Amino acid sequence: MSESHPSTGRDGYRIAVVPGDGIGPEVSAATVRVLTQALGTSFPIEFRDYDAGAECFRRTGTAFPEATQVACRQAHAVLHGAAGLPDVLFPDGTEAGQDFSMKIRAALDLYANVRPIRLMEGAPRRLVGKGPDDIRFTIVRENTEGLYAARGGGNIIRGQIATDTLVMTREGVERIVRYAAELARDGQGAPADGVRRVTIVDKANVLRSYAFFREIADGVLADCPGIEVEHVIVDAMTVHMIERPEHFDVIVCENLFGDILSDLGAAIMGGMGLAPSGEIGRDHGYFQGSHGSAPTIAGKGLANPIACILSGAMMLDWLGKRHSDPALTRAAERIREATGAVLKAGRAVTPDIGGSGSTESCAAEICATLG
Ligand code: ATP
Repeated sequence: MSESHPSTGRDGYRIAVVPGDGIGPEVSAATVRVLTQALGTSFPIEFRDYDAGAECFRRTGTAFPEATQVACRQAHAVLHGAAGLPDVLFPDGTEAGQDFSMKIRAALDLYANVRPIRLMEGAPRRLVGKGPDDIRFTIVRENTEGLYAARGGGNIIRGQIATDTLVMTREGVERIVRYAAELARDGQGAPADGVRRVTIVDKANVLRSYAFFREIADGVLADCPGIEVEHVIVDAMTVHMIERPEHFDVIVCENLFGDILSDLGAAIMGGMGLAPSGEIGRDHGYFQGSHGSAPTIAGKGLANPIACILSGAMMLDWLGKRHSDPALTRAAERIREATGAVLKAGRAVTPDIGGSGSTESCAAEICATLG
């Protein structure tokens, strides 16, 4: 595979769009529509669709075709709907469609999975007594190591014992913790006290690998003045996120723990349909809502496009910073403002957050608000 990294957006940005399965095509189409509206039709950006996921596997025998791999590598960024269907399985029982996300993370070395948890005005409030001023933190999930690094390499022994191996490397832990520290340094601190804080979440009291993670994280953060460091065991973290979310600023953790905690985070910001994510490496960025393909609501216009739209805004922010292009940064801000206004007004939003609108009507309302 060729290693040609796009270095500049001067001649126009190429975005590889991977619609995927289930609600993926609906939410990614809605997102492209909103991004185009925010940037203006004359802005030099091209969105091109590529095949991947469970349906692709069913048709072609692979969930991540070579042509899509090349396009994702050569694009300035990748926007994804969702991939995976529960009935499209490998012989070992794992989901074939998941191969796309797993493989692209490894192929593009997308080591930081950034999941901002923000309760917006108008979003359902799942926690009694907690409002938008209380819920504003970011989960930084290590995305290339941890337990998921074992995918495809586990063993079943004599039909009696199953093993998957949790992988941690010094370099992998150092870079994810550095990423979390930089986010905290550049952010506003925790809502409760304005303290820039990195919370290291692990299970260091039980497993050696997590103790290794903690020790390395402490070493990295010792060199980061102005950042408060704390340790929380993952099971206790689920309680703290519910009882005192305002205490948290940036949370850093291993891959599997980050996957679980970020679904809890999505719930406390109003639901899976609202939670964005950005998966970022040194040379590449891949953006998708935190949700899966939700096949039971696919094709019915019920999918909330906001998670994917906010992920698209994260993509523009990332591109704007990377290419020093303020037009992209401004468009990202405008998308967040317009989405916030539509959510606050409750107009045209989807049933998962209490509205009677559709994927289409929600995107159309955001576009109309952008003007
Ligand atoms: P994965 O394992 O791929 O993360 P999942 O099957 O565990 O996926 P999701 O697909 O994220 O879970 O769906 C969980 C629940 O949230 C489902 O009830 C689904 O209908 C709902 N949901 C997820 N995303 C959306 C969305 N964008 N709009 C509306 N409802 C959604």
